[in-house]
Amino acid sequence: MKLITFTKKGIYCPQGKFYIDPWRPVEMAVITHGHADHARWGMKKYLCHHFTKPILYQRIGVDIECQSIGYNEVININGVKVSLHPAGHIIGSAQVKLEYKGYSSVISGDYKIQDDGLSTPFELVKCNEFVTESTFGLPIYNWLDIEELNKRLQNWVLRNKENGKTSVFIGYSLGKAQRIMKAVEGLGKIHVHYSIGKLNEAFENVGIRLPDYEIPDFKESTKYLQNEIVIVPPALLDSSIIRKIPEAATAICSGWMQVRGARRWRSADAGFPMSDHADWAGLLQAVKATEAEIVHVTHGQTEVFSKYLNEIGMKADVIETLYGEDEEEAEKEIIENPGP
Ligand SMILES: [Zn+2]
Ligand SMILES: [Zn+2]
Repeated sequence: MKLITFTKKGIYCPQGKFYIDPWRPVEMAVITHGHADHARWGMKKYLCHHFTKPILYQRIGVDIECQSIGYNEVININGVKVSLHPAGHIIGSAQVKLEYKGYSSVISGDYKIQDDGLSTPFELVKCNEFVTESTFGLPIYNWLDIEELNKRLQNWVLRNKENGKTSVFIGYSLGKAQRIMKAVEGLGKIHVHYSIGKLNEAFENVGIRLPDYEIPDFKESTKYLQNEIVIVPPALLDSSIIRKIPEAATAICSGWMQVRGARRWRSADAGFPMSDHADWAGLLQAVKATEAEIVHVTHGQTEVFSKYLNEIGMKADVIETLYGEDEEEAEKEIIENPGP
């Protein structure tokens, strides 16, 4: 018997009769994290980490049936032991571990090894079968230390202040935005777009402490923003909102900037390689450490990464999923498409 199978609706556990991050409506869904490609609308029941619950309410609706548990808490679903383990991707993100008759499978969702200071750090979980992402599964991706990266953001803000400029960061609203806030905390007033503010509130309601911020009304005069810090989601790059910000210097925060950061992208003035996914070395480190007998590679550089794993003697295959159409894609698009 297989503990998990791959179906048209998503990753399925036949013994437990539930899915993990399904993309079609099902009875019971275990959700790894709040990004829209993993947490979708239409499930009868949801199970997730306590910190992900308010995000699901925010994004899917307050009328969903949702149970939440803590990290390392084990619950039993139709005889299968189910537990969540920190994935280090965003606040509340979890790897899902299933165990039945001594055999275990771990579904990682999205993950990163680096400790971003906000998300509970990635926990290595040994298992027989590991399902991994591979968003940045090419050797060209190797991230800076978080401290070094944050220092670059801080220096950029300080330079802008000296020059009478407003520091406008473009980063995905769930994950990046909170990391940027944390990185520049104390350097000036932080203003975040409404869409980011809503998610911040959801986190604050479950006890996560974030740096102080304000939500500006872009319909009013925004002169007072000058010299300060503003964070907006990728969809707003080149929008009238950004054009209204006085003396704006813009910076894109995305893992894709690692190989493209040297150039000017669209209308942005700067780029910082900030990613919530593991880099090449991080992926390899995680996969090897699970000691899994079989590795399934879901979204990202699936072909290259699984081929490499096979060449170093691990058994790996590629699984078609509908993940990866969300945050990374939104960022990739604004970076790759030249502006008007
Ligand atoms: Zn994600
Ligand atoms: Zn993903």
